[in-house]
Amino acid sequence: MSSFFLSDGRPLYLTKEDYLDLVVERKGCFICGRSNEDFDFNNEHVIPDWILRDLKIHHRSISKSDERLKYYSTHKIPCCERCNSLLGEKVEKPISELLRKTPEDFSRLINEKSNFELLYCWLANIAYKSVHSDLYTKVDNPKFEINNLGELHNWSNMHHLNVLCRIFFTETDIDTNAFGTVRIFFFPDENDEFSPEGFDFVTFFEASAVFLRFRRIGLIAVFNDGGACGGIFDDNFIVPPGGLKEPIRSIDCREVLAEMATINLFLKERPSYRSETDPISIKSITKVSFPESRPEVEYDPSNPEDRFVRNQLFQSAFSHIKPHLPLEKQRLLEDGRLSFLKEIGYVRSS
Ligand SMILES: [Zn+2]
Repeated sequence: MSSFFLSDGRPLYLTKEDYLDLVVERKGCFICGRSNEDFDFNNEHVIPDWILRDLKIHHRSISKSDERLKYYSTHKIPCCERCNSLLGEKVEKPISELLRKTPEDFSRLINEKSNFELLYCWLANIAYKSVHSDLYTKVDNPKFEINNLGELHNWSNMHHLNVLCRIFFTETDIDTNAFGTVRIFFFPDENDEFSPEGFDFVTFFEASAVFLRFRRIGLIAVFNDGGACGGIFDDNFIVPPGGLKEPIRSIDCREVLAEMATINLFLKERPSYRSETDPISIKSITKVSFPESRPEVEYDPSNPEDRFVRNQLFQSAFSHIKPHLPLEKQRLLEDGRLSFLKEIGYVRSS
């Protein structure tokens, strides 16, 4: 299948090759692929501006692997003006209204497929922007033979996330079984000791996984697993009869994310995704094909390379709190044995 262009030249569907050329290589708009030489561009916040304003967290910083800090207020990527305003109108505005609801109202509304799809697109959008920003993160250290952090990534693996993050523009439907794992958590309070401003955000782009907290609502998504990670997580972690001992916190969600990311990176066989566009109605749908066998994980705890990958995810999930942990817990974290889920009452089945 080739890319599908509208009469004004904007692509509805971008093949992986065209995505790599127009969006990654030539740094066109991450939504429509057009060049900043031909159209006006402005900057789009990676963490949406309405969240920064609601929670007053412009001053917070995100750490990148080059160890330089980027403040949320200036953590932005170029986007063409047309797509930026479309994103505001079609995604950010309705999502901001949805996430400001009470957990009870949110639970009810998210059962509607259009709202669920909107939420999925929004999370994919933030996860994608977060990794796309690496193309603009310069590396000055001559020790590394790269110009920007983006050169470290395998961008072919980001194509599916890019397809999802632009569905508000392409008006693509997602087949009901083509969603990945999505988990929604409700916290008892608007903040907790690990998330004092009511906000938390982690993304593991290699595993296509993201966790975002806004006040009492916590959202986890894995975008390319066809739901396998959620199922395997539930087989491994059991909530005892009578429920958990303690309410869930941000830190627990980070652990759930690290577990799911590990599962995703070690899935034996992966689902494959494709988009189909009807040339008459110009309507696209994203579909999935599942492997014939039941999803299985090929993680071997006795293999140091496997353990290293898992440990990296956990270290990264907990790095912000490591200096505040007692030494004993810091050591458990270094060994990959620290578990907050266990503390609140989850029982590991394997
Ligand atoms: Zn655009």
